[in-house]
Amino acid sequence: MTEKQNLLGLDLDALTAELQAAGHKPFRAKQLLRWVHQRGEADFACMSDLAKDFRAELQNRYTVATLTPIVDKISSDGTRKWLFDVGDNNAIESVFIPEDDRGTLCISSQAGCTVACPFCSTGYQGFNRNLTTAEIIAQLWYARAELLKNQSAARTDGQLPVEPLRVISNVVMMGMGEPLLNYRELLPALKLMVEDNAYGLSRRRVTVSTSGVVPMMDRLAEDCPVALAVSLHAPNDDLRDRLVPLNKKYPLRELLAACNRYLAHAPRDFITFEYIMLDGVNDSDQHADELIAIAKEVRCKLNLIPFNPFPQSGLKRSSNNRVRAFAERLQAAGVITTTRKTRGDDIDAACGQLAGDVKDRSRITQKRRGDEVIPVADGVIPIYEVQK
Ligand code: SAH
Ligand code: SF4
Repeated sequence: MTEKQNLLGLDLDALTAELQAAGHKPFRAKQLLRWVHQRGEADFACMSDLAKDFRAELQNRYTVATLTPIVDKISSDGTRKWLFDVGDNNAIESVFIPEDDRGTLCISSQAGCTVACPFCSTGYQGFNRNLTTAEIIAQLWYARAELLKNQSAARTDGQLPVEPLRVISNVVMMGMGEPLLNYRELLPALKLMVEDNAYGLSRRRVTVSTSGVVPMMDRLAEDCPVALAVSLHAPNDDLRDRLVPLNKKYPLRELLAACNRYLAHAPRDFITFEYIMLDGVNDSDQHADELIAIAKEVRCKLNLIPFNPFPQSGLKRSSNNRVRAFAERLQAAGVITTTRKTRGDDIDAACGQLAGDVKDRSRITQKRRGDEVIPVADGVIPIYEVQK
């Protein structure tokens, strides 16, 4: 018998085509998506408004297979982190960040990452594999079901829980991995996130964060324009080549041009530039001035990210005063600048701390390339090649 297909991996077009090929009407696909993604139903037998025969047929051909968490931690600030087993000693992480006016789920696109930025613990892990569409969506499916369960349990006044889709109002592809280097699996997942019959999220509330995979930024603009965050981290090629090694392939000129092309399609009228604040590396007044020049070329908002240290990096977070002075210099020049609040660091859920690899850390050494290191402040920045 052929293996059953996981419905979590099929977007509306794919499911419609499958069901039509089996002689069913296109609206069945929408109905099925609503059961699976909106009601969170994994058991075909419970899909009460579908004909018995159809349910049996679905049962034979499909499953709704979610991920299994191996760790589920809640931070003192309410941030919640799941570590999911994805087989072969690989694990990935998802983080839910509740705020007053929204709930953001940060999800992973790859187990590990080939870009190997020296300030990122995912980068230190090497690259294990791309996640499938079903694995990307399963993070959302699972988190939503869990949060909803907790919410219903917490209600004692007999009222219905908050409308389920509001629990997670935003999704950011800022977990482990470089989403645009896994474009084939990412695209149907994004389509499900914004599909009315699935998660129905606004395109403005789904954000892809990229280290700057220029050709795929153009593809995304055409195929499914959602909000875009670009991990800039350095205002010139010399430094960016070292901090975001993919820059050697797609240097700043090309990246900024791609940002401007993206803006023509984007659901928001700005690109978010992420800029990690590393003590003595990229946080001087001169760096700020170079950034101001960049901000004049691309309609953007700048998000300063205090570096979350981890032992191997040899890098340090800029002082609060330095971050403030840097932000003020940018703001004085008219650049809209915010500083990211660190969340969930007591459970290692903060940005850059996601290193879901559970056992096989020996891979790190095998996967690391190029031994060149340069002294920076009192640490070193190792330089890696981008894997082909
Ligand atoms: N690969 C994509 C998306 C995942 S990384 C990208 O690089 O954009 C998501 C964000 O986490 C990036 O902006 C990255 O710079 C940030 N990040 C990585 N390591 C970090 C660390 N140690 N401290 C704070 N932020 C970090
Ligand atoms: Fe990969 Fe992003 Fe981490 Fe760089 S910051 S290593 S691109 S996950």
